[in-house]
Amino acid sequence: MYFNPEIECAEREILIQYQFTRLRRLLREIYQRNPFYTRKLKEAGIAPEDLSSLEYLSHLPFTTKSELSQDQEDYPPYGTNLTYPLKEYVRYHQTSGTTGKPLRILDTRESWEWWIKCWNYIYLAAGVGWGDRVFFGFSFGPFIGFWSAFDGAQSIGCLGISGGGLDSLQRLKLMLETQATVLVCTPSYALRLASIAEENGIDIAKSSIRITIHAGEPGASIPATKKKIETAWGAKCFDHAGATEVGAFGYECSVQPGGIHLNEGEFIAEVIDPNTGKALPAGRRGELVITNLGRWGTPVIRYRTGDLVELNEDPCECGRRFARMMGGILGRVDDMITVRGVNIFPSAIENIIRQFHQVEEFSAEIYREKEMEELHLKLEIKGSEEEKKQIQEKVFQALRAQLNLRTHITLAEPGSLPRFEMKARRFKIIN
Ligand SMILES: [Zn+2]
Repeated sequence: MYFNPEIECAEREILIQYQFTRLRRLLREIYQRNPFYTRKLKEAGIAPEDLSSLEYLSHLPFTTKSELSQDQEDYPPYGTNLTYPLKEYVRYHQTSGTTGKPLRILDTRESWEWWIKCWNYIYLAAGVGWGDRVFFGFSFGPFIGFWSAFDGAQSIGCLGISGGGLDSLQRLKLMLETQATVLVCTPSYALRLASIAEENGIDIAKSSIRITIHAGEPGASIPATKKKIETAWGAKCFDHAGATEVGAFGYECSVQPGGIHLNEGEFIAEVIDPNTGKALPAGRRGELVITNLGRWGTPVIRYRTGDLVELNEDPCECGRRFARMMGGILGRVDDMITVRGVNIFPSAIENIIRQFHQVEEFSAEIYREKEMEELHLKLEIKGSEEEKKQIQEKVFQALRAQLNLRTHITLAEPGSLPRFEMKARRFKIIN
């Protein structure tokens, strides 16, 4: 199912023309109105009429998160990235603040409608539509996360069921009682719910949940984690990508594993070398830079997401021509860890650990010893003492064989490691 087939399946030349037209409209709308971007464009000596083709976008300056944060420090509380008078804004949200002070983001009625539209692409690509009952395993605080997903579900005729204000067992019971068909939550939390169901004798694989949709962390694109979720829930698992300050910019179709489609109808994506800022050709791994086209009230132009991706512009078997992020978001530019001289992404380690379904939860610490970075893994494993020892050894061997990584592994008591509803932080660097 497509939300917008003329654009989703359009030839790339048509798509590029469409993006260019929308970019020009955006710039005309915000220039002289939005103080943040008017200042940036003037400093770069660029006016909207200079934009002669989409290629010209690369002359525009980047936007960074620290720049937006600084702007809010300088002009509290909302900063100057506002195109319209404050009274036009109807929604307040903020980033999760896992990497510093939360960023405050406002939406107008129109830009919220745009968020909802972005979610419609996600739902339809996952096969969710009229008649589905969508459960949100989420606390509904000021983080934007699933608010937009909630309104998006309603707009395509689904029944939206909020799991806010409930503990995990209450959520499971409500999900069963309402015969929910779709679960939306972070991948970590889907696994957490499944293990609580098991502890309480609930066979969640037999529930009416047929589809799960995830975001907030890269887990749902890590093959072993995806499989674990699908087995536990007896459902098909879909990933999507988004950020509070950018929008919901990516979604997975039913061709899996085929990567996450970038919603190029609503966003312009570029991939750059994070060190030099130079554009990289399709297929090269680099930092994703995004311009959103429909959030005129609080736009971002050439926003450096800090996400590492590898784009594939070949047509997808689903019929869409939108580029795909192969393997989803591969990691954060600043997330790469070094262990015994080996550069590695935490997601690669997670993919191996999750191949062992006996491992309930894990955490990792990286510390220096004799001028060498060492990795200490703590595993919570199900089963008898003997089984635990066996799995511990198997994880050790798999990490060694597949990543050339030598680790220290210890066992943790059941239930002793932290569980996460949002933004799991399993890797810690100790100096
Ligand atoms: Zn596809």
